[in-house]
Amino acid sequence: MPSPGPTDRPPSVDILARSIADVGLPHPMLVDAARAAIAAGDPESARAFAIAASRRMLRPVINATGTILHTNLGRAPVAVHQDERYTNLELDLISGGRGSRMATAGDLIAKACGTEKAIIVNNCAAAILLVLSGLADGRDVVVSRSELVEIGGGFRIPEVMARSGANLIEVGTTNRTRVADYANAVDDPATDVGVVLQVHQSNYKIVGFTEAPTIAQLAGLDAPLVADIGSGLLDSRCPWLKGGPPGWLAEEPAARQTLAAGAGLVTFSGDKLFGGPQAGIIAGDAELVGRCAEHPLARALRPGDLVLSALQDTALAYLSEDGDAIPFWRMAALTVDHLRGRAEAYDAAGVGDVVDVRSTPGGGTLPGVEIDSVGIARIGDHRQALRSLDRPVIARVDDDTTYIDLRTVHPDDDGAVIEALHSLG
Ligand SMILES: *Cc1c(COP(=O)(O)O)cnc(C)c1O
Repeated sequence: MPSPGPTDRPPSVDILARSIADVGLPHPMLVDAARAAIAAGDPESARAFAIAASRRMLRPVINATGTILHTNLGRAPVAVHQDERYTNLELDLISGGRGSRMATAGDLIAKACGTEKAIIVNNCAAAILLVLSGLADGRDVVVSRSELVEIGGGFRIPEVMARSGANLIEVGTTNRTRVADYANAVDDPATDVGVVLQVHQSNYKIVGFTEAPTIAQLAGLDAPLVADIGSGLLDSRCPWLKGGPPGWLAEEPAARQTLAAGAGLVTFSGDKLFGGPQAGIIAGDAELVGRCAEHPLARALRPGDLVLSALQDTALAYLSEDGDAIPFWRMAALTVDHLRGRAEAYDAAGVGDVVDVRSTPGGGTLPGVEIDSVGIARIGDHRQALRSLDRPVIARVDDDTTYIDLRTVHPDDDGAVIEALHSLG
């Protein structure tokens, strides 16, 4: 039997779909809601199905969780402004010739890292895939057994390696790997090492009886060193913060210092500590970056002008040492005094108790790090009610108390959050 097309659809579905047109969704989505309601044996529920479909679509939310890079909320928030206009994405406005989409934002990021060249792909997973494909397809890659990890979302280093066509050589042990372990593999006449890969332990820690070589030691080996620093801290001195680096950054590896210590390339995410849009950055030695850029996969992994212009803005903010222009750093640097000042408005409105809370950087970076913050507490679990508002407020619950952490709430949204808390009664 042919499947029913638009013309032979049972009229009841169509009539039901039209009866909920005020939900404001395109007709085919209303038809889906009507069908689902009929299948559930309750045509009256069509409106609820349609509203649920509309609630699932992307919309701005207020992050009151205190997790600054919240994976479920798109990691770093960024402002993207673009009118309905063309951009000079691949046109060189000086010469009139073909320009490179990779060059502009890439060159700015390279400058901000103090290195020669950078290119941009869709995320850090893509960056690693491209680096391994570009430098080690059909060749060997040496990795420590302590770094054969899963980064999240099922992204596993050994599996990416297999996809890239590179052959994995594991060295050392789970807790201790020495530079000699790497050197033995690199210098073995039976191997053909294209890359020595060091993967930052972003989202886990190995503690106790441990040992790992420094970047400078690995850079002395006879093969290009690629450091996947993941989190994308640009410079450990944080010159974009007036107060210098916050204490909680502690041992986090930074792109500039990793390259200065001798890594040939670094790879990192655009939307973690870098604070930009979702992207992956490959930065370092011009010849190595060039080999990645020339690989056919580069075409499949490249971002469009929305992402590139947001990255360009982020890179310009770094070069101007303007941390306030980068939402992640603006939020990370807020002082407890400032947050307490904002909490007064909540206190005055009588919507909850002002309490000390702890924010986290999040995004799988800096495990265990907590940043003193100020929040509003309400007894009970109000997450669902806050989530169902027109401007959803995403809160955290601990021990049957709902917490609003002011660090991740934009100051312009304080009024909306007060109203949201008010609506709880
Ligand atoms: C987060 C992370 C990745 C993956 O980055 P995406 O941008 O999410 O693809 C890779 N390596 C390390 C070390 C990371 O921390």
